[in-house]
This record gives sequence, structure tokens and C-alpha cells, in this order.
Amino acid sequence: MALGVSNPSIRVCKHKMIDDKLVPYVVGMTKQTDRTSLIFHLISSINKWLKTEGARYFDIHWELFQDGLGDEPIKRYILLEPLHEKSAAIPSATIEGVDRCLAKRPEHHLALLVKKGRSRRYVIPIGRESEFKSILIVDFPVSAKEKPQLIWFFLEMFNNLQEIIKAKDQDPLTGLFNRRSFDETISCVLDAASHTSNPNRTSGEGACLAIFDIDHFKRVNDVFGHSIGDEVLILFARLMERIFRHGDKLYRFGGEEFLAILVEVDQEKALQALERFRSALEEYSFPQVNQVTVSIGSIMVNQDDFPSVLIEKADKALYYAKENGRNQVRSYDQLIEAGDIAAIEHAADDIELW
Ligand code: GH3
Ligand code: MG
Ligand code: MG
Repeated sequence: MALGVSNPSIRVCKHKMIDDKLVPYVVGMTKQTDRTSLIFHLISSINKWLKTEGARYFDIHWELFQDGLGDEPIKRYILLEPLHEKSAAIPSATIEGVDRCLAKRPEHHLALLVKKGRSRRYVIPIGRESEFKSILIVDFPVSAKEKPQLIWFFLEMFNNLQEIIKAKDQDPLTGLFNRRSFDETISCVLDAASHTSNPNRTSGEGACLAIFDIDHFKRVNDVFGHSIGDEVLILFARLMERIFRHGDKLYRFGGEEFLAILVEVDQEKALQALERFRSALEEYSFPQVNQVTVSIGSIMVNQDDFPSVLIEKADKALYYAKENGRNQVRSYDQLIEAGDIAAIEHAADDIELW
């Protein structure tokens, strides 16, 4: 059985004084400064206040999947749990109620209620209009007397706070992470990337940091104008999102420079992915501008190197790419091995701490 449940948060406020004990949860939620801890707070508040059997929060992505029935790959939704950064992607069909909820494309904040054995499940899409980015799933025992209106109360607050956090960490033009987010989180991101718990990981796998600089971008602005230049930057970012994997972190580093942290790759896989992007960009036809190319410098993340040193090394490889014809991917490690550039050496007290 499935039915729509409308957003009752307004009724909660009109008819009932808010319980005093709720106040620390509300205050606690407003203290969160990053998305993951905000989601953690949302889930623990819902679990605590509604005596659920469990609540889970997933981000929705899609991938092309070969189902073995036809030649054409089919598009399927996959779910990633932001609270478990290294969890595998889960096909949406394996979690009851999710596909039905996404197929119905209900309005913002409308839940699908599914009876599931001895549980009642609320499947609540989160996002604007029909473009849902995330989904919240809350299971209650069938015997539960409580009305789940508080879910919407927490969700309204969560959405507002998430918008504020997003504005802080996101580049407004492209929607990728911004430089400030990079500076604040890079040490943790690199640390997590080089300590992955993926059991399928093979030796030699780690993270790769790559810097992208669009070739002759000044000409795009000069010939077509700044707005068309901006459009190129937006489409460039969309292509990055399409080509790189969900777990990879993508940043606009400034101007026409972008940065990616590719996770769970060895040198060969990283260079293949970067080359795939370079060639996809070369093939892409931009409105008016037509062809745009990019030069890319990369470095495998070495835990002994500070982020500032990794960037310096990737930058050196990028500079080499620019000097040697542009529209190419260059790896710092390979350039050193081939003797094409001199290694960057730093005395310990040279290093700028992040
Ligand atoms: P190279 O191949 O050596 O990288 O050449 P380039 O022209 O891309 O490099 P240069 O650094 O000379 O120029 C970068 C240009 O990027 C200059 C600047 O006007 C443009 N730019 C930086 N930020 C933005 C932006 O937000 N929007 C637009 N439209 N242009 C930008
Ligand atoms: Mg540049
Ligand atoms: Mg450039």
C-alpha cells in the first residue's frame, strides 16, 4: 500500500506547544557547520524523538547499467549514504519504496507511506520540485502510536540549514565545491582517501590530486564575451561530474582552474580517468565557442606531502603540459621518472601549514 502524506509541519506548530526537551536538539542542529554532521544530527534527532526502528539518509545518483537483456545500457538510480563515506553504492530497487517514490515524483516533502511487514515506512524525497537529490527513510513499528509530524519539523530546519552550509562551501557559478571548502577540508579528505577500507582495493591504490586549467580561456572571453565564458565554466563542471566517479571530490579552484581528488585509483587508473575527461572535453561542442581544451597536471597523493606541496607538484606538471602544447594530461611522478622536470624538494620548515 502506498499513499501520499502531506507536509503537516505547520499544523504541529499551530496546535501544540513545542516540548521543552526539544530545544537542545534544535539548538544543536543550528550549531552544525558541515553537511555530514547536519545529516547525523537530523537522523539522531528523528530517532530519539520518534522512537523509530531506524532512519537512513541517502543521496541519489544515477548510473548507466548493462542489464544483460538489451544492447543499450539502462539508467538506474543508485543511493549513497553520506554518513558512511566509503559505503558502496546501493541500487535504489533494493530498498523498498524508493523506486516507487521516485517514479511518482511527488511534490516537495510529500512522503510515500509503505507497509512493510511489521513496520510502517515513510519514504521522503528531499530536493526542489521534481529534482530530488536525497531521500530520507524512516521505519516505525506498526504498533507505534506516535504521529510522525516531527519528521517534517526537523526536515524544514535541516533544509534551511543545508542551504546555508551549501552557500558557504559551494562555488555559486558551477555548484562544485569552492576554494574555501578545499582549504578547510583537504587534510581530512586526503587522509580519508588514503585510508580507504574498501576490501576490493588493490595494492598501489590511493588518491590522485589533479589540477585542470582551461586552455586559452582568455580568448573565449575576448571573442564571445564574459557570459559565454561563464557558460563554458558551467558546462565544464557538468562534464567533470559526468566523467568522474561519485566518490571523487571536485572543486572550482578559482577562475578557469579546477581541481579533483580521485579516490581508490592507482597511477594508471587515475591517468586513464583524466585522459577520458580530456578527450571528452575535446569532443564536446560548446554553444557558439565550439571546441575548448584543457591541460591537466596530476600527482599521486603521498601521505608525507602536505596539501600545499601536492598542489605545487601537480602545478609543476600542469605547467609542463602548458609549455609542451597544452590539451594534455601530465603526471608529476612520470615526469620526474623520465627526467623531464626536476623534483620539488622542501625543507620541513619551508612548508606552509594548512
Ligand atoms: P592558458 O592556456 O595559458 O591557461 O591561457 P588562459 O587564457 O586560459 O589563461 P589566462 O590566465 O591568461 O586567462 C584566464 C582567463 O580566465 C582570464 C579571465 O578573464 C578568465 N576568467 C577567470 N575567472 C572567470 C570567470 O569567472 N568567468 C569568466 N567568464 N572568465 C573568467
Ligand atoms: Mg589559469
Ligand atoms: Mg587557462
